[in-house]
Amino acid sequence: MTAYTCIIDEEDDKKMLLTISTTYLLATDLGYLLHKHPDRLQEVALSSGKAHIFYPEANEDKCTVALLLDIDPISLVRNARNTASEGFTLGHYVNDRPYVASSLMSVAIAKAFSTAMNGTCANRPEAVDKVMPFEVSLSALPAPKGGELLIRKLFEPLGYEIVVERQTLDEIFPEWGESKYYHLKLTGQTRLQDLLSHLYVLIPVLDNDKHYWVSEDEVNKLLKKGEGWLSNHPEKEQIIKRYLLNIGRFTKSALGQLLAEDTVTDEEDSEEDDVTIKRKETLHQERLKQVLSELKASGAKSVLDLGCGEGKLLRMLLREKQFENILGMDISYRSLEKAKERLHFQEMAPRQKERINLIHGALTYRDKRLEGFDGAALVEVIEHLDENRLAALERVLFEFARPTTVVLTTPNRDYNQLFESLESGAFRHSDHRFEWSRAEFKAWAGRVAEAHDYEVNFKAVGEEHPNFGAPSQMAIFNLK
Ligand code: SAH
Repeated sequence: MTAYTCIIDEEDDKKMLLTISTTYLLATDLGYLLHKHPDRLQEVALSSGKAHIFYPEANEDKCTVALLLDIDPISLVRNARNTASEGFTLGHYVNDRPYVASSLMSVAIAKAFSTAMNGTCANRPEAVDKVMPFEVSLSALPAPKGGELLIRKLFEPLGYEIVVERQTLDEIFPEWGESKYYHLKLTGQTRLQDLLSHLYVLIPVLDNDKHYWVSEDEVNKLLKKGEGWLSNHPEKEQIIKRYLLNIGRFTKSALGQLLAEDTVTDEEDSEEDDVTIKRKETLHQERLKQVLSELKASGAKSVLDLGCGEGKLLRMLLREKQFENILGMDISYRSLEKAKERLHFQEMAPRQKERINLIHGALTYRDKRLEGFDGAALVEVIEHLDENRLAALERVLFEFARPTTVVLTTPNRDYNQLFESLESGAFRHSDHRFEWSRAEFKAWAGRVAEAHDYEVNFKAVGEEHPNFGAPSQMAIFNLK
C-alpha cells in the first residue's frame, strides 16, 4: 500500500478527491464491484489530464477506494470548446479548475467505474443488487452561494446523512475568510450503482462553472443516469436545469421526458372500474368524431394535432383524403412511440407516409414547425398545463403558429358533480392542473380570440344535462 504515496504532492490537498468506503462483509468485494484491483495503482485518461484510482484501505472489515483528479490546466483550456471563442484571458490559466473541475469528476467516475455504473459484475453478480453501508467523502466540492442548503436539498431526499464543512481560503490566514469549497461527507445505505449515479449527476449540478459542452447527448446521459430516482426527486427541475447548464432547449427536452414518464405511470396506476372506463372511451370517441367533423367542415387541407397522445385522432385524420398534410406533436416521447406503433408507421405505404409527420415538442415554446397550417386540434390538452403556462401556449398557438381554424376541447367542471365516483372538487385525471366551468372556459376563449383576431363559437360534447351542460366543452376559433 505504498504505491499511491508517489502521486501525493504538496498541491494534492487542494485537488478534488473522492473516497468511497464500505464496511459491508466482505468489504474487499468493493474491488470486484468496481472492477479495480485493490493492490494496484491505476489511472484513467481524461480529456484534460487523468484520474488515479487507489485503495488507501482494503481489508475484510473496511475497504476504501479513492479517485483523485489530476488535471492539466493548459489542456483544460484547449479542450473547453464552450469557452474557446472568448480568446485568451489569464483567467483561463490561473484559476481553480485543475483542482475542482467537478464535471470532470463525473467523467472520471463514469470512466473509472463504468462496469459498476452499468450494474454488471462478472465475479460477484449477487453483490450488484446488495444495499450496502457507504461512507463517501468529497473534498474541494465547489458550490454556489447558499451551498450548504443546496447540498442538503440534493442529497438528503436520496436518503443520505450529510456533514458539510466549508473550507477556509487559506488555513494559514483564517482572516481571509471562507472559500466557496466544501468538504462533504455522505453516509447511507444504497446499491453501489445508485450511489455512483447520484454522484455522477449531482456533483456537476453544484458547480457553477462547467467546462463541458452540452449537447443533446447530455440529456440522454442525464436521463439514463437518473433512471429510477430523478423523476421522484423534489429538486428534479433544479437538478436538470443546473446539470444542463441552464440551456433552455435541453432542459425542456429532459424535463418533458421526465414529466411524460410521470403522466403515463399515473394513467397506468389508476384504479377505475370497467364501466367507468367504457363510458370514458365512448365519450372520447364521440369527442374525436366531433373534432374531426369540425376540421372537415373548415375545409382545412393541412392540420395539426397538438398534444396528439397515442394518435387516435391522427388515425381518423389519415382516413380522410381531404387532409393532405398532418402533423402530430406531443411532449411525451413515449406517447409518440405508441402513436407510431398504432398507426403502423413503419409499414405505411410511401404515399401515406408522406402525408403525416410526428414530432416531439412542447406547446409552450414557439416552434416554427407549427406555422402555415390551415387547422389545429387540441383535444383535452390545455388542462394538462399549469395555468401560468397557458399564456405561453396562447402566444405559441394564436400569435405564431396561427392556423386558420383551431378546435379545442376541455372538460366541463360543472358536469363533475354528476360523476358519482368523483369526490367534490377533485379532477377527472390526476395530471389535470385545472378543470374549467363553462363560464370560465368562455371567458378564457373569448379573451384569447379577441386578443388575436379570431372569432369563437362553442359547442357541447356528449349528452347535455339541463343544469350542468355536457361532460366536455369545445371552442372553435376562426381567423377573422
Ligand atoms: N389529444 C390526445 C391526448 C390527450 S392527453 C387525445 O385526445 O387522445 C394530453 C396530451 O397532451 C398528452 O399526450 C400529453 O403528453 C400532452 N401534453 C401535455 N402537455 C403538453 C405540452 N406542453 N406540449 C405538448 N403536449 C403536451
